[in-house]
Amino acid sequence: MSSSVSLDVPATLPASEPVPSTVGTDPIRVIYVMGAGRSGSTALEGMLGDHEDTVAVGEIAAIFSSIWDERCHCSCGERGPDCDVWRGIFDRWCELTGLSSFEENGPLNSKYESLKRFGLPQWRHQMRAAHEPTEEDAIWLERTRAIYQAVAEVTGKRVIIDSSKNPLRARSLCLTPGLDVRLIHLTRDVRGVVWSRLKAYRKDPKNGFGKEHAPVPVWRSVGYWGLTNLTASAVRRAHPECLSMLLRYEDYTAEPIREFARISEVTGLDYGPIAERLVAGHPVRPQHTCAGNPVRMQGAIRLAPDYQWMENLPESMKRRSWLLGGWLARCYGYEKHPAVPEPQQVGQVTAKAA
Ligand SMILES: [Zn+2]
Repeated sequence: MSSSVSLDVPATLPASEPVPSTVGTDPIRVIYVMGAGRSGSTALEGMLGDHEDTVAVGEIAAIFSSIWDERCHCSCGERGPDCDVWRGIFDRWCELTGLSSFEENGPLNSKYESLKRFGLPQWRHQMRAAHEPTEEDAIWLERTRAIYQAVAEVTGKRVIIDSSKNPLRARSLCLTPGLDVRLIHLTRDVRGVVWSRLKAYRKDPKNGFGKEHAPVPVWRSVGYWGLTNLTASAVRRAHPECLSMLLRYEDYTAEPIREFARISEVTGLDYGPIAERLVAGHPVRPQHTCAGNPVRMQGAIRLAPDYQWMENLPESMKRRSWLLGGWLARCYGYEKHPAVPEPQQVGQVTAKAA
């Protein structure tokens, strides 16, 4: 598939920038993956987190529910509150903010980052925070910065991979002083997302299922896919000062050498050796990833493109998905009748356990 898309904005800085020091006042670099769920973000995050200068911590935006409320397990095997790393991050965040639980930040999080009502009230609050910040805006930004400071201090890393996906959180980060934000807008064929969200899961925190998942109707999945992708594109345009890129799931799994070279340009880190190891069949191993796709609990992630939707999604659902979302999918370079991938490219799952 072509990687030329009309909504893309090219990066401008070269790869392998100096990594911020682990001490002092250098900004903390955050590589933020945004887009719709079920687009391969957890696998991508695991691969990005394999770089020695980074720490990948999963969906930071979800820690307010997934770790403490749902008692989800960290990818190290411990329950979130029992993981030494997350306990250390929590304690330090409480020291920095004066709060005593993640839940106390929930209302502010919703006010600025919820996608309910299409995220329009939240976008308006963020506009105000950018131009005429109130005291509450300042508190929200300080709490946002504090979580990344806590991660950096506890792990000793100044480059943090956050796969929260929510594009409104990306905007929060762009407004937060003291962060050097790099945005990866990850997208996938809408029909792949629809197929993935049709699957049902029972609650199983130990294996990464924090809550029950019922099959999602086609129209809701397409609406969610469209809203998150349009918002992600809008965030990139609203914040040209943050280096960013559009990345398609189908491209990074099929052409990892080429696509990870693009990722290197945006992140300032050399991902060439990691791409070569992935192509050679070597896995990456998530360390302390909380929240996100249950593949994080499988111990190892391999490069294995998933095109199951092509065979398994009923034709009527393919047609409805394209009728509702094809106009936007075309903007990202997708075709109504994509070429069938080579047999060796077709995997059974997005990321396989070793
Ligand atoms: Zn852990």
